[in-house]
Amino acid sequence: MITLTLAEIAVATGGTIHDATNPAMPVTGRSASDSRNVSPGGMFVAVSGARVDGHDFVDQAAAAGASCVLATHPVGVPAVVVADVTVALGQIAQHVLTRAGAQIIALTGSAGKTTTKDLLAQVLSRHGETVATPGSFNTEIGLPLTVMGASESTRYLVLEMGTRHQGDIAYLATLTPPSIGIVLNIGSAHVGEFGSREAIATAKGELVQALPAAADGGVAILNADDDLVAAMAQRTAASVVSYGTGPAADIRATDIGITAGRASFVLHTPQGSAPVSLRLLGAHQVHNALAVAAAAHVLGMDTALIGEALSAAEPVSTARLQVLERTDGVTIVNDAFNANSESMRAGLQTLASLAQGRRMIAVLGTMRELGDTANPAHQAVGQLVGDLGIKILVTVGDTEEITTLTEAARTHSKAPRIEAAPDPDALLPILNDLLTPGDVVLIKASRSVGLEKFADILQAE
Ligand code: ATP
Ligand code: MG
Repeated sequence: MITLTLAEIAVATGGTIHDATNPAMPVTGRSASDSRNVSPGGMFVAVSGARVDGHDFVDQAAAAGASCVLATHPVGVPAVVVADVTVALGQIAQHVLTRAGAQIIALTGSAGKTTTKDLLAQVLSRHGETVATPGSFNTEIGLPLTVMGASESTRYLVLEMGTRHQGDIAYLATLTPPSIGIVLNIGSAHVGEFGSREAIATAKGELVQALPAAADGGVAILNADDDLVAAMAQRTAASVVSYGTGPAADIRATDIGITAGRASFVLHTPQGSAPVSLRLLGAHQVHNALAVAAAAHVLGMDTALIGEALSAAEPVSTARLQVLERTDGVTIVNDAFNANSESMRAGLQTLASLAQGRRMIAVLGTMRELGDTANPAHQAVGQLVGDLGIKILVTVGDTEEITTLTEAARTHSKAPRIEAAPDPDALLPILNDLLTPGDVVLIKASRSVGLEKFADILQAE
């Protein structure tokens, strides 16, 4: 970690120091905006959100060992007081970057950012010291905090960039300017807010627009198999490296096979070929792995080593297609972290390829934020439940979308058994009643449905 002093932070942010006797006091621990995540010696960043005001948690942060606070008013403990904490955090990140000199690789897309970010971090670690955003820390708060974790020896900063509005990524890219930008896919996540897939592509395309020109080292890594992503080649002055399964892609996969839900393939780069056998679950991981391979190749990593590192990489983030074998022979596929059309399809297909003849049970809740596409999207899921031969569908919640999904499953399946739970609390007795050894259970819904806790309990049963 690069050590900053209070005085340095005050200069970088134009803030003033309060309640501190020593302006040369260094910040020595992990800084965080959640008082529970500050480590001893770290800085507590008092962000005022819509629901909670970070300034109310200064005492907890101090008790956890925070050495100082970034705040908008004096708080009775050593603090740098600024007009806007979020803006100041961005300024601190930019200051750190002038000292750290790490190369930033940013990625965005509708589905798979965190999965791919974790995979890329594991692969690049074989090539040089790498720091990545923890979890889904993909906002104007999370990214600067990640940057603050870089040290003088950090070579690569891998940053996930999320977007809910036009302009979000352009702003993030000014805070933490990437030289390599990866766009994974354009799906339907947040289509309710954006209006259309094209509008989402415009927003995510801000990443490739923010990249330096090819002559200055900018590289856009684009999914050749996604029409709207491939079209972004027209919107960047950076050089373009494409990946996909077609013969025209620069980084390609051939001989794709799926065994017990896990993909293997032969990776081709302009430098050579290498076999890859993923430990991560799901056919969709082929594209995530290709995006990683493209970035690693651009950064000069040997193709054989890329293949080896991809094959050794483990799933990192929880509740994303995480498989747990219970001692009673029931397999739980926990994908409760979030859901949209693409990841729901990926989750159900993974369930089917993993089951290999065993009885499949899908515990599904609403996919939110789909706007006008909500109805057809839930209908498609119900249809897929039928087409894949899932034997038992357990729905959670009584939304209009769930009714649509249920109806579609009923008409498309031969005789699926359908159970309806009004809320997550009602799920456990239903599942405990119907589970038998050998069953494979997928748990998936949008995060706000609240299935994560249930998935944890079911895994532990
Ligand atoms: P968020 O916007 O919530 O941060 P994210 O883009 O970071 O999401 P992940 O958390 O990596 O995405 O994965 C979300 C879901 O999408 C998981 O269920 C995961 O299995 C699935 N997923 C991962 N990669 C892909 C992909 N390439 N295509 C479709 N689904 C995917
Ligand atoms: Mg994420």
